Amino acid sequence: MSESTASGVRDISVASAFAGMRSVAPVRFRAGCPDCRGAFELAASALRLAIGASSRTTFYSFTCPDCGAAVRKPAGERIVELLTGGGVRTLRLHAP
Ligand SMILES: [Zn+2]
Repeated sequence: MSESTASGVRDISVASAFAGMRSVAPVRFRAGCPDCRGAFELAASALRLAIGASSRTTFYSFTCPDCGAAVRKPAGERIVELLTGGGVRTLRLHAP
């Protein structure tokens, strides 16, 4: 049917119109609490990333939604990339 062909063409143009757009769905990060051993997903706004001069002073932190503990974990290069790419607030501890 020529009708289905037309709608197919329209689908393609809609897809390309959105091709440059990033998903607007909020990014969720999987995290675990060493205190209560809870596992949960956190929004980017619930996490903080601190980048120090070395990997030893680079960490991310969040407050456990289950027990309220302040959790701080070392962040490797991959995690830093993931968190900054996901819109997590980043604090640079060392002077550039
Ligand atoms: Zn906890």
